[in-house]
Amino acid sequence: MKIHSLDVHIVDLPTIRPHHLAMHTIVNQTIVLACVKSEDGIEGWAEVATIGGASYAEESPEAIKFNTEKYIKPLIIGKNPANFGAISYLISQNVVGNYYAKALVEAAIIDLAAKALNIPSYELFGGQVHTSLPVAWTLASGDTGKDIEEAKECLAAKRHNIFKLKIGMGDPKKNVQHVLKIKEAVGDQASVRVDVNQAWDEVTSLYCIEALEAGGIDLIEQPLIHWNHEGMARLADRFKVPIMVDEGLGHIQGAHHIAKQRAGNVFALKVGKAGGLIATKKTAAIAEASGIPLYGGTMIESSLGTAICAQLYSTIPEIAFGTELFGPLLFKDTITTNAIEYENFEIKIPQGPGFGMTIDKEKVRHYSRDAQYSTATSHR
Ligand SMILES: [Mg+2]
Repeated sequence: MKIHSLDVHIVDLPTIRPHHLAMHTIVNQTIVLACVKSEDGIEGWAEVATIGGASYAEESPEAIKFNTEKYIKPLIIGKNPANFGAISYLISQNVVGNYYAKALVEAAIIDLAAKALNIPSYELFGGQVHTSLPVAWTLASGDTGKDIEEAKECLAAKRHNIFKLKIGMGDPKKNVQHVLKIKEAVGDQASVRVDVNQAWDEVTSLYCIEALEAGGIDLIEQPLIHWNHEGMARLADRFKVPIMVDEGLGHIQGAHHIAKQRAGNVFALKVGKAGGLIATKKTAAIAEASGIPLYGGTMIESSLGTAICAQLYSTIPEIAFGTELFGPLLFKDTITTNAIEYENFEIKIPQGPGFGMTIDKEKVRHYSRDAQYSTATSHR
C-alpha cells in the first residue's frame, strides 16, 4: 500500500466559554487537520492544535499547513504507511523543527496504517496498558465564585476531581489567593494545581509557590520562562510541591537535558510539542529512566486530537499525575461523528480502527478556513 495524497485543513471551532491563559484568551480554538489517502481509498486523519496563533508555540496554524504541504508532503507520497517510523525519520532528516507539522503528518499516517490492519493505533505502540485515565479540568472563568461552583458541579457529576488553574495573567498575589480559596472550598475531595504558563520571574515564584505549597496545592506548572532551566532546577530543589515542565519541554534532546539538570521534576507530555507519537513515547522513556513522573498534557485539541493523545498515553504504564485531555468538553461543536467519553473522573480511551474516531466531513467543511476544500467538496 502506498500513500497517494495529503490534504491539510485549518478549522476554527468555537468554545463554550472564554478560556484564559497567560498569553492568550481562547474563544475560537484553531485546529489543523490532515488527511492522508492510500491508493485504494483508505483515509488516515489526524489533528494538532496550538494556542493563540503564534503566541504559545513557534508554529502558527498557518505555518503548520504551509510547511506540511510544501516541504513534508513530497517526502511521504508513494511511501508505505506501515513504515511510519522510517517516514518520520526521513522527514526529520529533511525538515528542521516544525514539530507540530511533523506530529500531524505522523499521526495521519499511523491512523492510515492502523486502519489498513483494522486495529487500534495503540497496538502499533506496544498495546494498551490503560483503558481509561484520570482527567483534569481547567477552571478558567477568572471569577472565584464561578470557579468554585464549576468545581463542585464537576465533583457531583463525577466528571473531574483534578482542577488546574491558569494563573499567569494579572496580579500574582491576588491569583494565589483565588487558588487558595478554591482549594479551601473543595478540600480533600480534589487535587488543585496551577499553571503559570511561564509568567513569573524567580523572585515572584519564590513567595507565590511558598504560599501555594502551604495551602495544599499539588502541582506547579511552568512558573518560569521556557528557557530558564537553571531557575526551574532551583525551584524544584527548594520546594516539596512538584514543579512541572511544560513549555520548556519539546524535542527529545531537550527532554534529556532537562532530566539531567532536574529543571522540573514532572514532565508534561504533549504529542504536538514533541513532534509526534514516536517522540512522545521516547520522551516518556527518558522520564522513566530518570525517575521523573509524567502528566498527559493537552494543547486543547478537539475529539480527534484528543483521541490521538489518549491512545498514545494509554500505552505508557505510569502516568502518575493523570491527564488533561478535557479538550472536547471545551468545544461547542465537534468534527467527528462519535464523541470522546468521560466517566467516573476519567477519559475512556477510544478504540480503533486507527484512533477510533470517524470524521464528520460536513462539519470539517463548515468550519474549515480553506475555501478550496469547501468548493471542491460541496459539488460532490
Ligand atoms: Mg501548561
